[in-house]
Amino acid sequence: MAKATTTIKQVLNYGPEHAAWFAANQTLFNQVCAFYFDVIQAHVKILDLSNKEALTALEKLTHITQRNPAPVMPLDEVAEDIPAMFRRAAIHAALGSARSFFSHLARWQKAKEKAEAKGKKFHERPPVPPRTWNKSASLYAGMWKERSDSSIVLKVWTGTCWSWMKVRITGRELPIDAELGSPQLIRKGNQWYLHTPIERQFKSSGKIEKQVTTNKQTKICSVDLNINENIAVCTIRTVEGSILATTFIHGGQRVNGFRKKLLGRIARNRHKTGIIAENEQDNVHLWNTIRHVDEQVAHLVSNRIVQFAKQHEATVLVFEHLGNLKPTKGKYSKRGNEKRAFWMKGRIFRYAKYKAYHAGILTSRVNPRNTSRECARCHSLVARYTEGQPAEGYTYGAPLVACHQCGMRGNADRNASLVIGQRLTQRYQKQEKPPTPLLAKREPKGSGVGIPQDAKNRNRPSLRSARHGDSNEHGTAQATGMRMVEPVSDIAHQLRLPLE
Ligand SMILES: [Zn+2]
Repeated sequence: MAKATTTIKQVLNYGPEHAAWFAANQTLFNQVCAFYFDVIQAHVKILDLSNKEALTALEKLTHITQRNPAPVMPLDEVAEDIPAMFRRAAIHAALGSARSFFSHLARWQKAKEKAEAKGKKFHERPPVPPRTWNKSASLYAGMWKERSDSSIVLKVWTGTCWSWMKVRITGRELPIDAELGSPQLIRKGNQWYLHTPIERQFKSSGKIEKQVTTNKQTKICSVDLNINENIAVCTIRTVEGSILATTFIHGGQRVNGFRKKLLGRIARNRHKTGIIAENEQDNVHLWNTIRHVDEQVAHLVSNRIVQFAKQHEATVLVFEHLGNLKPTKGKYSKRGNEKRAFWMKGRIFRYAKYKAYHAGILTSRVNPRNTSRECARCHSLVARYTEGQPAEGYTYGAPLVACHQCGMRGNADRNASLVIGQRLTQRYQKQEKPPTPLLAKREPKGSGVGIPQDAKNRNRPSLRSARHGDSNEHGTAQATGMRMVEPVSDIAHQLRLPLE
């Protein structure tokens, strides 16, 4: 069984004076956190304990009881009458920060020692403990009650006393029979929200490696992300190689056009005013619109990808690594637009990953090198062209591909998505059997498969480059339209499967 956590975000509706209470409550929470962080810093050994033991130890050091009338660092010096559950929430928050800080520190010391042992200078600065605290208050059981779909009663510090208050909540309803975690009071801008983590258990189908190596019928959904019209092309394929379904998620042009229009407006506005004030966002409204549209599209596309995978019972989702952004020439709106389209690809991946995980689907990424230049059927190089043109050469970004080795013709993005899926299975098949020397792989004499002689002779470097392909090297192939010639010979050797 695997576990997934989602956060349900709900809006709190309260009178204007109550916002000050929430703020006071958060300030106090952070004071208590900071206090416990100091206590931990003074007693670092506490971090060797489990969270539960650490909690007991910290309470012993700070909390006055009949049995423990004079603790070393009494919490009462910060604030009196803090409810036990408020204190414990703050202790756990402080413990989390302290664990993170001290592990950073240890890593930094290790790196420093290593550099000094080699006689190198070490310029990296040490991590510093948090100077300010801005944590959201967690409400442990006991700090809230009477929760319904439309309201909740919370215990908060008003600035002068502890008080129970009833707040109305709106927004997404909590799913029935979900396992609720402790809600948090979150401030965004001037609005306060209640965030509730919920946990769900689901059946996991095991690691990708296990799925791919033990079950030939495992379905893999491979996704090619683009910055053109086909934002995403997804193909379902079994490990043994049957292709079951493909879907195109369109709409790239519209998003690009819309974004470009707004970026153009920003550029013109900036030109008019002539200066951009420092530390001040210009064209706030336009930037917000761009951000929201990108966010929205990334959610829609990632959702469609995961839905498609679910619908076809795929249990593995695979993307290619993103590579580097190709810097282009052109107007501000064009460059800015491409940059954002590229970022959106990253966002689609991230969102798809967590959405897939919630659906019990695992996500992986493969080397992007030449994914759009390789024939999915015979692995030789393809010609890429636009309809109406001769099927030869390689036109960057053109919609169609043709393979002169095996005669495959089709959509370029779909071909790329197929190649991406194959790379994932290849990764594990490679591990199963040791790499065969390439020469042994040559076709028997007279098999009649036409591989140009010079291609065979240049097989030599392929072992190295084949292994190289396993690493997560960021591909340059897609990013450089100019280098058409060299990668051509590269790929024929790297994926030497002319007979399969
Ligand atoms: Zn082919």
